[in-house]
Amino acid sequence: MRAITIRPGQAGSVQVGDIPEPVPGPGQALLQTLSVGVCGTDREILAGAHGAAPAGRDVLIPGHECLARVLRAPDGSGLAAGQLVVPTVRRPCGRPECYPCAHDHPDMCVTLGYTERGIQGADGYQCERFTEVPRYLVAVPAALGAAAVLLEPTSVVAKAVEEAARVQRARLAWEPRAALVTGAGPVGLLGAMLLRLRGLDVTVYDRMPADSFKARAAAAVGARYLCADQAKLGEGGPFDWILECTGAPPVVFGSIPALAPCGVLCLLGVSGTEGTLSVPAAAVNRQLVLTNGLLFGSVNASREAFTAGAQALAAAQAAWPGWLERLITRRVAPNAVGQAVDLGPEDVKAVVEWAAA
Ligand SMILES: [Zn+2]
Ligand SMILES: [Zn+2]
Repeated sequence: MRAITIRPGQAGSVQVGDIPEPVPGPGQALLQTLSVGVCGTDREILAGAHGAAPAGRDVLIPGHECLARVLRAPDGSGLAAGQLVVPTVRRPCGRPECYPCAHDHPDMCVTLGYTERGIQGADGYQCERFTEVPRYLVAVPAALGAAAVLLEPTSVVAKAVEEAARVQRARLAWEPRAALVTGAGPVGLLGAMLLRLRGLDVTVYDRMPADSFKARAAAAVGARYLCADQAKLGEGGPFDWILECTGAPPVVFGSIPALAPCGVLCLLGVSGTEGTLSVPAAAVNRQLVLTNGLLFGSVNASREAFTAGAQALAAAQAAWPGWLERLITRRVAPNAVGQAVDLGPEDVKAVVEWAAA
């Protein structure tokens, strides 16, 4: 069967070729890949700046944002042939001292010894077929169709949103009204969607112009859009809830003053490894202490968050028909994966299509 492979650490090593058919082991399902989304992590992997091959090998199959169809499922798995599923990404470290991994939360692994399919030490889904145990497969409503390829990035935001809501409600009587989302990429737009589904007033802030596709996509779910060229970061605030999705240090630290008293700022954007910034540290600390401010980082997602994400996608499809599909601005064949990596300013999400949904 066909697969995309790369040599981690080697830029330009991407290849599309034939590899042996996967054979399901005991208790494993056989899946047919329909489409695989490409994100910033994949761009880094293809550029040789990130990722690790499975132990004992020097080649990795990338791809972690997958929509698949069940070809064959083990008896008693609750899965049936033909069903649409999305596989989760992270696998537990298996170390006895890791309480989160032992309790179905490899997304919270404390040893950092986890593997991630398509990223870190385990093959991903950029291939025609793959195998997986049912525990790591999340069934998605058939009505979502091709839009279900957005579930993996949605799960990442759903985790942060659920977590923020749980922590905030545990520490105060919290009724958030105004939210700010910085960054209008796939994670930012899906975050705006989740917060709109919760009934919040949402402002999306990004550097793209006010008549860009991203601006229109934000407006289509009822969010206010502010372009960084025309509005100051924090305009329209203060905000009870901030989802930081750029990872750009000036935006990360610049958004803190816009946080309302008792507000929560979720950090979802991954910064590069370089860069320093001068920040008014005393004022930032003073504000956070004197207003009970909460900042936390969030990455990856549990099975729970995938399930919550699937429900949110179904709700979004009912509320704004066609909106999710429009976020997929580029669909390419496997041998044109390079075109899914080099995106234009009007692109949101590119996917590699392996088979029709
Ligand atoms: Zn991704
Ligand atoms: Zn662990």
